[in-house]
Formats: sequence, structure tokens, C-alpha cells
Amino acid sequence: MWQPEQETIGRAELRALQEQRFQAAWAHIWLNAPAQRGILRDAGVEQGDVRSLDDLHKLPFTDKRAFTEQYPFGLFAVPPEDIVRLHSTSGTTSKPSMGGYTARDMQNWKDLNARVCAMAGVTKHDTAQISFGFGMFTGGFGLNYGLEHMGVRILPMGSGQTEKQLMMMIDMASTVLVATPSYALYLSEAVREAGIRDSLKLRVGLFGGEGHTPEMAAQIEENLGITATSNYGLCELGGPGLSGECLERKGMHIAEDHFYCEIIDPDTGAVLPEGETGELVVTPLTRQALPLIRYRTKDITRLNSERCACGRTHARMNPTLGRSDDMLIIRGVNIFPSQVESVLIRQEHIGPHYMLIVRREGVMDTLEVQVELVDGSVLESYRMLETIREKIRAEIRSILGITVKVTLVAPQTVERFMGKARRVRDERK
Ligand code: ZN
Repeated sequence: MWQPEQETIGRAELRALQEQRFQAAWAHIWLNAPAQRGILRDAGVEQGDVRSLDDLHKLPFTDKRAFTEQYPFGLFAVPPEDIVRLHSTSGTTSKPSMGGYTARDMQNWKDLNARVCAMAGVTKHDTAQISFGFGMFTGGFGLNYGLEHMGVRILPMGSGQTEKQLMMMIDMASTVLVATPSYALYLSEAVREAGIRDSLKLRVGLFGGEGHTPEMAAQIEENLGITATSNYGLCELGGPGLSGECLERKGMHIAEDHFYCEIIDPDTGAVLPEGETGELVVTPLTRQALPLIRYRTKDITRLNSERCACGRTHARMNPTLGRSDDMLIIRGVNIFPSQVESVLIRQEHIGPHYMLIVRREGVMDTLEVQVELVDGSVLESYRMLETIREKIRAEIRSILGITVKVTLVAPQTVERFMGKARRVRDERK
């Protein structure tokens, strides 16, 4: 463990620490973050209305919209000269969310990422190939700081240049791969196709930046001969380091001494009891630059605070099912792309690359699942194609309760992703 004292703290002691840190964060917001103070006042809240974490549920949520409205620095709680680092979301459709760090935030960021790496079994004897993008994306830098803090040898490859990635993986004897699961899958297929698995020394994968199914992780593990672990974080909440998976692999331990988490019903906003599935809402407890109240992550998961066999006491969150933003509503049925993926990935003859296309035909919403064949010669056998299609259709129908159109396409024709995957095309708008 990287910080055993903090990571194995008793639950009662942890609650007391969270309470104490929350009081400080609450006072910090009222004193130093005028825009956040204004948002609270507009919702009819005064500083004295909140005495403890038990009052948290009375407070309004913060969401991505607040970041857009207050772009770039409106939500910040320190003067510009105290910010030593800025990161941002990709912001494909609007202004990005800006994330900021003070020097102390950077110290915590290093420790939180070192925890994530140690949890996955990484030690200072490892060589880590970081195939996450660097730049404004928090992923590359966050994990880099954690690994560096532990004394791990680092190859900051960034994403892309697959051939060079494989060459370095072999020549530098990389033992740890840091990537988005989509890119790890892509790399792992390239390894399989090149037949070089036995020349690799990889043993652990640290995957984050987007959700993935256990089936996808299993495929990467098989192609690379590694143990895959997940980690989680959001730019608005300081990037990676919020939670990570230990080698028990029964969920990701949340750094609860730094983040207070709730699960809510995404429709009503009501707080749900532990164990129920809903949207993760996070209140950071120690962030100086950007304290926030009840940030809605849009990620759907559930929490478990039972003690883990690894000895850590921090609650675990399930790897996310998907984002509530990515959830598709097709003929009244809620569907996550990951649910379709879990059906596809266990089929024979097809690869792990797919695209979901939603259309409206008349008043009917339709879902087309476009998926790639592993062997193009199957395209010549109508009977074979029909058998594969019908099997996928039937399994999706039995799991999701809807009928979809399945289209099988030639190998290497579905788009590949070096960073986060975008597997849904909604043509209804
Ligand atoms: Zn554990």
C-alpha cells in the first residue's frame, strides 16, 4: 500500500476525518468562491444551514453546466497566482471544463495516483508504458505523477504510433501498460496479429478514462497475458486518483479521505441506500483550487463499504456501467452501450469493434448494431452470416428486451480509437 495509515483507517475514524475536512471545505467555499456562494444563495442556502455531512442532501448539485457557465475560472476558490496547473476536458460540443490545481493539490494528486498504482500491484521495479494522451487530458499526467512518486521507470509514449508502441514495449521490456481500454484493446490486437505476445514482459494493465465491460478486460488480458485493473477520475474532480481497483478486483477503492461519495436516483435526485445502483455524486474534501459541492458525475455505479480482503477499508465502487449521458432510450427501454458490448464480445467470429446507430423511422426508434467479422471470408457464406446475426439478435433481445438490426461488416472497417471510444451514433436529432 502507498499510504497504509490512510487506506486502512477504521470506518468511524474515517467518518470523523471526512466530517472535519468537509467543514473546512464548506467554509473555504463560502469565504473564497463567490460564484459557488451565489449558486448556493440562489438555491436558498446560507452557510449556517449546514452543520455536518448529514445536511449534505439538502444542498443543490453542481454539474457540468456550472463549469460551462462559469468558464473558465468562475468556480475556482483561489487567486490565479496560486494555480500551478490547468487541465481541461475535451469539450467537443461546448467550452471545456477547466480543472485547476494548487501546489498542495498537486501533492495530493501524486499520492492518490501512487495509491492507484500500488493497488494494482505496481512496484518501483516496474517499467510503465504510458499510452494515455498527455496534454490537457488529465490521464497521462496523473498516472505519470503517481508512478514517478513511486520510483517506477516511465515511458511517456502518449497515444498513437502503434508500431513504435510495440517496438518500445519489447525493447524496453515494459511491465505495466497505462491506457484507455479502447486503445489497450487496439494495441492488444496488434500484438496478437504480429504474434509477439511471448516477447512481451507486460504483467499489469491500468485502464481508465472511460468505462469498459469485464468481457472487454478479459479479451485484453488474453491478448497480452496480463492482469487488467480499472481506475477512475474526472477532470472536474482532479482527474485520475479518485478510485482504483486492487488485485481482489471486486470494485475500485475510492479515496474516501479526499472524496465524499453519494449515489442518487438520476431522475429524482434522491439519495439511495448503499448497494443500490444510481448516479455517483462526489464532494471533494481537500481540493484547494476547486472545491465543489455534490458534483454529478453522470456515471452509473454502486458502492460497497464492506472491508476488502486486501485490507483496505475505503468503500469500493463498481466499474461504471456507463454514463447516464451515454444511456440510450430506445422504445422506452434504457440501454447502455456496455450491455450490448458484453453480448458481442463473447460471440465467435466477430471482433470487439462495433458501432451502435440509433435512428427514427416514422415514430419508431431503431437500433442498428454494426459489428466487425474477424475473418472476412465468412461474408461469402450467407448461411453462416445469418446464423451469427440471429444469435446476436436473440441474445440482445433476451438481455435488453428489444429487437435490433445486426449488420456484420468486413474486418478493419469499424473506426478504431486511440483515446476514448465513441461507439454510438444517434441520428435521431
Ligand atoms: Zn481491496
